[in-house]
Amino acid sequence: MLRRLPERLDVAQFVRAHESMSGVAAYDDFSRIAAECSGGGDVAWSIAGLVDAEGVCWLTLEAEAALRMPCQRCLTDVEVDVRSRSRFRLVFAGEQWGDEDLEDDSFEALEIDGPLDLKALVEDEVLLALPSVALHERCDMPGAQENADDLKAVRPSPFAVLGKLKRA
Ligand SMILES: [Zn+2]
Repeated sequence: MLRRLPERLDVAQFVRAHESMSGVAAYDDFSRIAAECSGGGDVAWSIAGLVDAEGVCWLTLEAEAALRMPCQRCLTDVEVDVRSRSRFRLVFAGEQWGDEDLEDDSFEALEIDGPLDLKALVEDEVLLALPSVALHERCDMPGAQENADDLKAVRPSPFAVLGKLKRA
């Protein structure tokens, strides 16, 4: 069931209510992903809110998509399975937070100064999870197989030559 991602989510309220939400958004909804990829399937996403014992608001976001990108070696499509899981600490306007928080890379800070564009956030996370260079493990260059067959036909195997000598 396709579901559009909210572009104006009251994320503070969502997190404080410990809510969760998930869905599948159409690949065509994401123009920035489409600019990097040559095609792909729909994007499955889920988010969950949590307030910890210290009153800190957290948002977890997961996104998954099977995409296709042009291979940098042979330029035909390569399948790229993207899986992203991120933790965001909500930082409200005027809120202070320490240097030690900035050094912790197990989460990112998400500044809250109004409704959250969840669609843009999911798109950002998928873009970050894309490989910087897409490559096939082994490229099947068009025509590569035919060339290999031609070579075999031209050069007889050494064993075939040996057989002829024996018969002579
Ligand atoms: Zn390739």
